[in-house]
Amino acid sequence: MNDSFWQAAYIIAALCVVLSIKWLSSPVTARRGVRSGEIGMLLAVVGTLLRHEVISYEWILIAFAAGAAVGAPLAYLMPMTSVPQLTALSHAFGALAAALVGTAEYYRYVSAGQAITGFTMAALVIETLLGFLTTTASVMAFGKLQEIVPTRPMTYKGQNFVNLLLFGIAAVLGVWMIVAPTPSWVFPAFTGLSLIFGVLLIMPIGGGDMPTVIALLNSYAGAAAAAMGFALGNRLLIIAGALNASSGFILSVIMCNAMNRSFTNVLFGAFGQATATTVAQANTKPVRSATPEDAASILESARRVIIVPGYGMAVAQAQHKLRELTDMLTKRGVQVDFAIHPVAGRMPGHMNVLLAEADIPYDQLHEMEDINQDFAEADVALVIGANDVVNPAARHDTASPIYGMPILDVDKAHTVMVIKRSMNPGFAGIDNELYYMDKTLMLFGDAKGFVGEIVKALNANK
Ligand code: NAP
Repeated sequence: MNDSFWQAAYIIAALCVVLSIKWLSSPVTARRGVRSGEIGMLLAVVGTLLRHEVISYEWILIAFAAGAAVGAPLAYLMPMTSVPQLTALSHAFGALAAALVGTAEYYRYVSAGQAITGFTMAALVIETLLGFLTTTASVMAFGKLQEIVPTRPMTYKGQNFVNLLLFGIAAVLGVWMIVAPTPSWVFPAFTGLSLIFGVLLIMPIGGGDMPTVIALLNSYAGAAAAAMGFALGNRLLIIAGALNASSGFILSVIMCNAMNRSFTNVLFGAFGQATATTVAQANTKPVRSATPEDAASILESARRVIIVPGYGMAVAQAQHKLRELTDMLTKRGVQVDFAIHPVAGRMPGHMNVLLAEADIPYDQLHEMEDINQDFAEADVALVIGANDVVNPAARHDTASPIYGMPILDVDKAHTVMVIKRSMNPGFAGIDNELYYMDKTLMLFGDAKGFVGEIVKALNANK
């Protein structure tokens, strides 16, 4: 096949990947972004298969069938709430592919008795180090999210020292391979250490922090792919890998900023364990609670209602009931808007995806900075399964672990109603002073069930 064909396919594929990332940044264009990414990937694969270096297709077909047999059921069977797990698994596969290509390339040189240039060896070292550590780290992240591995941070004294030492030894072996010919045990030892380091890296991190870690692992997998591009002289891999690495890194920075936490705190802070004292204290303080019927009459007499969804809405899958409630209130002339905090839920865009699935119009969804000033004018702020992202302590309590995190100012609304099952804390493991305010009504129950009851009460009031 003519070289210009695959080169053109590669350029169009790279363009599709760039456009895909751009379109994925808004819910309005996200579907187009997914299609563009798919077309880019298809062109890259077809372009590669038609290169004259490919002399036989048997093994490629076997690998294709094996990949499809695993990938297709995963995509269809995993529910929407398991997208973080699915992403972790796909990073593991991508990183493993990069690491295995690097390993095969290394042994191809060794078995042919060919010397490897310093540049190529450096690319192979980066590719295999990041590839193998991302593989095991992503599998661990999957295990924590799926709760196969304990989700709490697993820590011990001197842990950071042990991790750094291990990484240091792997780095020294890597540099040794770049600067001089090495004995045959060095490469296997280097890959073994990389695999172990991936597991150790994730052990001290709590399950709730996995989405941030996954964004970071995405960035490592991208860097491994870019290094593979340098090792193989493949420009498409360099472009797509670099885009992947930088977008994953930027996403993890955005998530850390939205939580007002540093990378070090996420990676080494062992964050997110509710203490027994927090729960016990919260259960003894008095709160005002209300029934679905009370909530229904307050909502229908309001002019403006702002709904704040959080992790509990996702767990309860309450988005469809919420859509029914929104429609009923809108029909009664109430202005209903949704306020979306950037880290509500457990993954970026978690709330947007679920609300879009329930066909809640995009123009009713507002980012935190756009809607925060409106709470003061809202008659009701209806908080559904959100906790940390509406905790006023973030604004003034310097001792709070979430101090400095930007929050949704629901406490400024005339009335606040909070749907949750108990007084248990959220991800940060801390009590929420919002619940004890005079203007707050606690609506205890499962988010989907309680919203359903409010809808029933509204129907009965017709
Ligand atoms: P949250 O602080 O974790 O609180 C969720 C609340 O939902 C809990 O208090 C829980 O209370 C309630 N809940 C759970 N299941 C429920 C159900 N079936 N029905 C009703 N309520 C239910 O959630 P958030 O306010 O969304 O904040 C997100 C947190 O995750 C932040 O601390 C953020 O920093 C962190 N985080 C987010 C991301 C991201 O990318 N989005 C990534 C990493 C970390 P009950 O048990 O009493 O019901």
